[in-house]
This record gives sequence, C-alpha cells and structure tokens, in this order.
Amino acid sequence: MIEISKLGKWYGAFHVLKDCTTSVAKGEVVVVCGPSGSGKSTLIKCVNALEPFQQGEIRVDGVSLGDKATNLPRLRARVGMVFQHFELFPHLRIIENLCLAQQKVLGRGRDEAMARSARLLDRVGLTEQAGKFPGQLSGGQQQRVAIARALAMDPIAMLFDEPTSALDPEMINEVLEVMVALAQEGMTMMVVTHEMGFARRVADRVIFMDKGEIVEDAATEAFFGSPRSDRAQLFLSKIL
Ligand code: ADP
Ligand code: MG
Repeated sequence: MIEISKLGKWYGAFHVLKDCTTSVAKGEVVVVCGPSGSGKSTLIKCVNALEPFQQGEIRVDGVSLGDKATNLPRLRARVGMVFQHFELFPHLRIIENLCLAQQKVLGRGRDEAMARSARLLDRVGLTEQAGKFPGQLSGGQQQRVAIARALAMDPIAMLFDEPTSALDPEMINEVLEVMVALAQEGMTMMVVTHEMGFARRVADRVIFMDKGEIVEDAATEAFFGSPRSDRAQLFLSKIL
C-alpha cells in the first residue's frame, strides 16, 4: 500500500532523510520510533505529500507521489493523518468537524455525511459530544474526534504522528484502544509512537530511525527480542 524507496529529503542544506527504503503492505501496522529529531514526522509527512522530497520515490496504492500527473489533493484525501496536537477546526462543532471534508472534498450530500459522522462518533464513544466545540473536550476526546474525522474520508491507510504524546497519562489508553481496534480490523497503519506496549500488541513491524536513516526495520518480535544495532538498543534501554 505504501512503498518508500531510496527516499532523500533536505530542508535547505540540511539532509533530513537519507536513503530511506521501506514499505507497508495492505492491512499491515508499522510503528516508527527513534530519538527526537531523527526524521519520523518528516517521513510520514512525505508519505502524505505534505512535504516534498528531492530523491527517490514514494508510491501509495501504486500511485507515485513524484509523478507530475498525480493529483496530490485527491491522494491526500485518501490517506488519513492524525497529528500530535489534534488540529481540529476550533470554530466548528464536533459533528461539523467530521462533515466538512466529506462534503467539500468527497462531495457527499449533507444527509450521508451526517449519517457517516454519527456512526463514527458512536464508534469512538463520543455521540454525546457531537454538538460541542473542540475546546470543550478533553485532549483524549479531541484526539478520538481527530481519528473519527480521518476515518470519515474512508482512507486506504492511516498515518499517526505521536497521537498520544500531548495527552495526560490517563487519556492515553482511550486513544490507544481506538487505534488497537482499527489495527485489528485490518486498517493499514503507519504509526510514529513511543508507546512500546501498543507496538508489541499490534505492530507487525517496527522501524527505528536515527539521524535521518532507517537503522532497523524488523518484525516486532525480532525488534524487541534483540535489536541489531547499538543505537536501537540504547534507545530501547532509555524508554522501556
Ligand atoms: P522527529 O519527528 O523524529 O522528531 P522531524 O522529522 O520533526 O523529527 O525533524 C527532523 C529534523 O529536521 C530535525 O532536526 C528538525 O529540526 C528538522 N526540521 C523539521 N522540520 C523542519 C523544517 N520545516 N525546516 C527545517 N528543518 C526542519
Ligand atoms: Mg516528530
């Protein structure tokens, strides 16, 4: 579903991604971890065409992002993205946050968008919050809204960038539970997270990045059992 090959990216003169190659198969869950500044966010932003890149290739569902003929807004609409800081529209009620892109981007009618939104709010346990504004919800609730909003677009894959890092500890699990359920339903997912319990539970593979390189890309069991590199071992010893 996602193929990244020999990806190279610079911010100005700074070489932020170096020869990164990996892939995520349909239905696969891949966790991306590594020290702060290692390029994790940049990597997944490239996958969603939110950042341009200078070398290599990314294909999503067979479509090359570097190809000038590719309709990037259309592709972006099909890949769900969930950020650390939720990024909800603060002036729109929860239900409207879910409806907006369905109507504007997918061209769904109002009734269909409302029905889909209501089903998704129910699924993340937030039916009663539909008429509220984002600022009236807890962080954990806002992040569940952000996930529901992404799902409303019927994405072919979901990208998460540290979705629980900005949350108070007691709210982390309610968000992880939604993500675990999604993974178990077969959603293709690329998840930047330091929640290693989540990784062990649902990830098929773990990618470890350092200084812009993919240092390890291993089956979850193998990664936790015996990371090959010193850098990954050191990282794990600090966070586990
Ligand atoms: P991570 O998500 O692993 O913490 P990032 O992908 O956010 O890492 O950043 C990787 C490196 O690129 C960092 O050194 C960061 O300072 C730098 N960087 C990130 N975004 C930009 C930008 N827009 N312009 C210049 N440098 C950036
Ligand atoms: Mg980041």
